[in-house]
Amino acid sequence: VRFVVNPITCEGHGMCAELLPEVIRLDDWGYPIVDPRAVPIGLLDMARKVELACPTLAIRLVDD
Ligand code: SF4
Repeated sequence: VRFVVNPITCEGHGMCAELLPEVIRLDDWGYPIVDPRAVPIGLLDMARKVELACPTLAIRLVDD
């Protein structure tokens, strides 16, 4: 699975990047840039927490 971000609903809280900096970093405006590759197995639990923690549910895991 990998992350996708809805740029319309994302409000740039940065919570996602704080929780999972291995996969998500922030641009100069505080919006997330996600690693387009599959989330490593060892980070999947935290990746699911990121999904739930986003205040606007803008970041989702998708299965290709
Ligand atoms: S936590 Fe959600 S709203 Fe905040 S930057 Fe990440 S995706 Fe956007």
